[in-house]
Amino acid sequence: MAKITLSNLRHSYLPRPQGAEDYALKEIDLDWEDGGAYALLGPSGCGKSTLLNIISGLLQPSEGRILFDDRDVTDLPPDQRNIAQVFQFPVIYDTMTVRENLAFPLRNRGVAEGRIAERVAEIAEMLEVEEMLDIRASHLSPDNKQKISMGRGLVRDDVNVVMFDEPLTVIDPHLKWKLRSKLKELHQRVRATMIYVTHDQTEALTFADQVVVMQDGEIVQIGTPVELFERPQHTFVGHFIGSPGMNVLAAEDSGGKVTFHGHTVALEGAVTGAGGTTQIGIRPEFVTLSDAGIEARVSKVADVGRHSVVEAVVGDTSVKAIIEGDVPGQGETVHLAFRPDQTRLYRDGWIATEQQTGARS
Ligand code: ADP
Ligand code: MG
Repeated sequence: MAKITLSNLRHSYLPRPQGAEDYALKEIDLDWEDGGAYALLGPSGCGKSTLLNIISGLLQPSEGRILFDDRDVTDLPPDQRNIAQVFQFPVIYDTMTVRENLAFPLRNRGVAEGRIAERVAEIAEMLEVEEMLDIRASHLSPDNKQKISMGRGLVRDDVNVVMFDEPLTVIDPHLKWKLRSKLKELHQRVRATMIYVTHDQTEALTFADQVVVMQDGEIVQIGTPVELFERPQHTFVGHFIGSPGMNVLAAEDSGGKVTFHGHTVALEGAVTGAGGTTQIGIRPEFVTLSDAGIEARVSKVADVGRHSVVEAVVGDTSVKAIIEGDVPGQGETVHLAFRPDQTRLYRDGWIATEQQTGARS
């Protein structure tokens, strides 16, 4: 296990990159602490796989260094980096049995047969594949192939880091949920550094202690699931995390007095900076219907089980509220209130309100 440091990392797939848009990774400086459970979360194409492949050595970065426990490994090939990587689609040997597949990474390293048998049994139990051990891998369903592929990633206990690149894509939803909690449990048991790449917020938030959110080749926020939910540093994080995501509403800022469609809005703290495009960020969880609020007309009501999502229109702006209990009907007039300590200002996308000391996050 090791601390992994990415220093001034940039990568372009083009031979002669010009502007920032030519870079798949723009400028990454990041420490992955030894033993951490990390998720790398972002939409498709934002650079997640590129980053993983640079850590594992499958890809040489255009610029910057990679350190394992302060040792520079940038020029080392993958097999000398001591990393386990699980890919989106199964990588297993069809002609071998499940048992042989699981044993392979250990045998390759000259581990004693007794120890191999022990580890294979442990992993097989964890993944619930004991009864398949003597089946040839070519006979397995895609689900089970991927489970074995994950098992191969987990079987060694001497790796610097285990990296999963969207490993549950081919797994059916029910099993997905189970494997996700298994991985979390496993991390707590072995305390290996794990990096779990996904575009699915639920997967990221259930697995990780720390979530690294990426957009367009850049890291926009690193934080615990609660921090990302409560105080998004960027409107992108607000949108991307939450169901539905944060309301991001065009606002007017005149010298720190912020208004939304003519109504003064109380914010969590003093406004910082000046100029730029100003927006209010408020999560639907913290929008309530009250007697004395901003007048709006209900445009849509969706019952989503435990609560309802009410959409109401103020001028030309739609605001979502999560409401428990009785909900108004479509077309009704309501009044919206924003909980001040959960109402933030954003300037050109980035948070621009001071956090109150003693606040929870
Ligand atoms: P993610 O894993 O987040 O979906 P990727 O790291 O695969 O994103 O891709 C990041 C960007 O780099 C995308 O714009 C993608 O098209 C581009 N890219 C990825 N792999 C290659 C490649 N081998 N050659 C050229 N461009 C690539
Ligand atoms: Mg990818």
